[in-house]
Amino acid sequence: MSEFPPINAKLPVIWYGADYNPDQWLDRPDILAEDIRLMKEAGCNVLSVGIFAWSRLEPKEGVYCFDWLDRIFDSFEANGLYINLATPSAAYPLWLAEKHPEIVRVDAHRRRLRGRTRDNYCWTSPAYRKEVGRMDAELARRYAHRQNLVLWHVGNEYGGECHCELCQNAFRNYLKNRYNDSLDAVNKAWWTSFSSHLFTDWSQIESPSPVGESSIHGLNLDWRRFVTWQACQFIENELNSIRLFSANVPTTTNLTLGPDLDPYKIGSLFDVTSWDSYPTYHSPVGNIEVAEHQALLSDLTRAIKPNRPFLLMESTPSITHSQWAKLKRPGMHQVASLLMTALGSDSVMHFQWRKGRGGLEKFHGAIIGHDGDSRPRTFQEVKALGKTLQGLSDVVGSLVQPQAAVVFDWENRWALEDARCLTGSRSYWFDFVHPHHKAFFELGVATDVISQDMPVDSYKLISAPVLYLVKPGVAEKLKKFVRNGGTLILTFWSGIVDDSDLCYLGGAPGPLRELAGIWVEEIDTLYREDTNALRPCSGNALHLVGSFPVKTYCEVIHAEGAEVLAAYESDYYAGLPALTVNKYGKGKVYYLAANADAAFLNPFYARIALEAQIPFAVDGILPPGLIAKRRHANGTDFLFLLNFEHEPKSFDFGSERWIKLESHEVLSGTHSIPPYGAFVLKKVSS
Ligand SMILES: [Zn+2]
Repeated sequence: MSEFPPINAKLPVIWYGADYNPDQWLDRPDILAEDIRLMKEAGCNVLSVGIFAWSRLEPKEGVYCFDWLDRIFDSFEANGLYINLATPSAAYPLWLAEKHPEIVRVDAHRRRLRGRTRDNYCWTSPAYRKEVGRMDAELARRYAHRQNLVLWHVGNEYGGECHCELCQNAFRNYLKNRYNDSLDAVNKAWWTSFSSHLFTDWSQIESPSPVGESSIHGLNLDWRRFVTWQACQFIENELNSIRLFSANVPTTTNLTLGPDLDPYKIGSLFDVTSWDSYPTYHSPVGNIEVAEHQALLSDLTRAIKPNRPFLLMESTPSITHSQWAKLKRPGMHQVASLLMTALGSDSVMHFQWRKGRGGLEKFHGAIIGHDGDSRPRTFQEVKALGKTLQGLSDVVGSLVQPQAAVVFDWENRWALEDARCLTGSRSYWFDFVHPHHKAFFELGVATDVISQDMPVDSYKLISAPVLYLVKPGVAEKLKKFVRNGGTLILTFWSGIVDDSDLCYLGGAPGPLRELAGIWVEEIDTLYREDTNALRPCSGNALHLVGSFPVKTYCEVIHAEGAEVLAAYESDYYAGLPALTVNKYGKGKVYYLAANADAAFLNPFYARIALEAQIPFAVDGILPPGLIAKRRHANGTDFLFLLNFEHEPKSFDFGSERWIKLESHEVLSGTHSIPPYGAFVLKKVSS
């Protein structure tokens, strides 16, 4: 009944498990045996093994110690447990760094780091690529045909950058290729006439540095592109090495979605996308806000590989070691995990199975603590969630199929960081993208989160907040999308620079000006304490009424064919347009000139989604704190109702009849969803 086959046909259920580090407990066979018993009790079916285990797999050069991993495969197989086998490239053994000192990263200050094995290797070093390829191939040759191998976990949380001489030379070669061997083209693209920066020899070009050059924005942007490109080359080497012996087992890597590497490019290299989610629930910002952050990053991870599920690869059952966060209150782990499933994840995986006795992560939340006991609340909640997920096998392979998308683009993110006074301490994703995505999230409108490079033809509605950097061809793609009937939402501070971070001439929003039907004369950047307001014009087509606060950014714009829907209330630009709509072909472009909050964005997006005939997860208004999401599979609808608050929420199914997947109870009419409770339902066909 699925629309996409299971990630691996050997395991056609929701995958449930954790990172497992038996390599830290090899002198405790009693604990390894107890692990198996407890994994079965918790309802686990797959564990990620070997992520940082190189020094246990090869303690000396060429001396392989696979016996312990063989025993793990054997004992798992005997107990019906599956393995997501990691390559150990994220942490090299010390003997390897002693033999090849050049594999160790050099930081932006040009200091070669010392002693640290984890996340500390050079992307470029031929020696490290060769050694990683050798180890990956050895693992693939030995384990590819094991009955219980279901996935390759390649690397771990790829990230960071290296500024060594190997990387500097590779960067120069990357630039020669990008600019057709023309240093003149580099100088033009980077505007190096600024402050006497003309490059007269390729050797003068270096990566950005706090003790060197950081004021050439085109250089900064190309460096970050290069780092992602070089990481992709590194990863391709890993994938090719695995596929020498294991062509049929799918691959993934656990994305962190941090700013350093472009996740759209990294994730697209793999068969399945996955990410690590570490929310801070019960914080003052509110659970819905936190849940929406997780949803945004899940919508992104899923959209990298359209029309297939993704995997939640890591989550904590209690706390993390790296941030101050309360313990998840009773029930929160279940509803937070089911949110990931609702958004298209076919797994709930944890970090970590068992707390180690020492090292960085000894206090990071785990299913098994230092007491080794199954009685604590954490274990019992994990066990209950395992039972719930066992009832959700029908959901496996079902799809989210959004008709709306929000653009969250990494090259735009990098360029915005350099806009200095016009971004300040504000974060592209937190201050600009997130409020727009949150409006969709709370409305129950499914969204993909996409880069500006990705296809848009499958959507009816696209929101592209603060699309500051517009790459060649993007404006034309968006024009075609709107001309064919799509609805596009643009905001202030869009169409400002090209893909070299050079400002467009001829007036903002640059290549989007004709599409938006407006001209931006100037942008006012308010202090944090300041507010203005936008007031919808009477009789506006969206039927918006009232006064809505705006803050931080207010563009002074003029309509050039667009219809004015709302105007500023105060300051010298009072009465000038703050919201416009431009009819273009069969579609429409809305331009929001000021930074509005949820008070405006929620009704704004609700009206636009209705107008664009975008489906909502449920009819009617959801009570605050209750989230609704849907997945679909070959004519079957699944509905997730998730209560993120500490009070029960009432929901009226009306005359529709839904089956609770876990209990097979048939629901219609009004029901109460308990605090931190979740209903996962399948629609009864009428
Ligand atoms: Zn390097």
